Amino acid sequence: MADLGLQDKVVIVTGAAAGIGEATARTFAEEGAKLVLADINLAVVEKLAAELGNDALALQVDVADADACQRMIDATMDRFGQVDVIFNNAGIAGNRARTGKQTLEDWRQVIDIDLNGVFYGTRAALEPMKAAQSGVIINTASVDGLMGMASIPHYTAAKHGVVGLSKATALEYAKDGIRCVAVCPGFIETDMTKTTLGPDEYAALTAMMPMGRGAAPQEVADAVVWLASNKASYVTGCPMVVDGALTAGTHFSN
Ligand code: NAD
Repeated sequence: MADLGLQDKVVIVTGAAAGIGEATARTFAEEGAKLVLADINLAVVEKLAAELGNDALALQVDVADADACQRMIDATMDRFGQVDVIFNNAGIAGNRARTGKQTLEDWRQVIDIDLNGVFYGTRAALEPMKAAQSGVIINTASVDGLMGMASIPHYTAAKHGVVGLSKATALEYAKDGIRCVAVCPGFIETDMTKTTLGPDEYAALTAMMPMGRGAAPQEVADAVVWLASNKASYVTGCPMVVDGALTAGTHFSN
């Protein structure tokens, strides 16, 4: 990638232990960013921080815990003195059930992690960003934040919420030099899709994709890192779809 001007920028990535978060953290590291790797799985982010170097900080954070998200920002400020970018990416798919059969426990868990977690990270990061009059907030939504997905109503609701929250944040802080974008990945080949779907369903869904394949996490990471850079200086308040044309329309007559 061309030089994106991210050298020594301080970047927080949640859900950094696997999948899209890990690929994005590695890509930011290649650009010379200083990383804060946050995940519920501390052992994995500690290993990644040691591998990436450049003073990377590993933190155990449950994004569903507002206080833990505040501590994540405080620890970042203590170590690096600024927060240039936060990638609120941690998420789970949750158990599958139609709305009428959705348990309250499953509903609350997905809303807590996938929607509230993004709000907590955003809210805490805004204070240093506003003080600096600069910052980029990138929130992982999904194509399920733009269209309905049957049998994961909690996830669909949470991801629509992330798109809405990102728009509101972008509007509120546009004059403070802060951009906010929701990234909407399509079908990405990560643990999330591999473990939630059985092998037959995984193969069937892959075959249904307009490009005939899912995406590698790297293909989302490259979009996120570009969004975080000044090359995307006028890109804010919009969902950014990375979905191989999945939401472009119906392609079955091809
Ligand atoms: P993944 O399962 O590979 O990685 C998710 C990471 O989040 C893991 O490291 C996990 O430990 C961490 N995590 C889970 N709960 C957490 C919590 N409460 N606090 C902190 N960390 C937590 O999944 P992925 O596919 O890389 O998903 C990343 C994001 O992308 C999620 O928000 C997901 O909804 C979204 N997404 C994924 C796809 C896809 O097809 N894989 C598509 C659209 C959106």
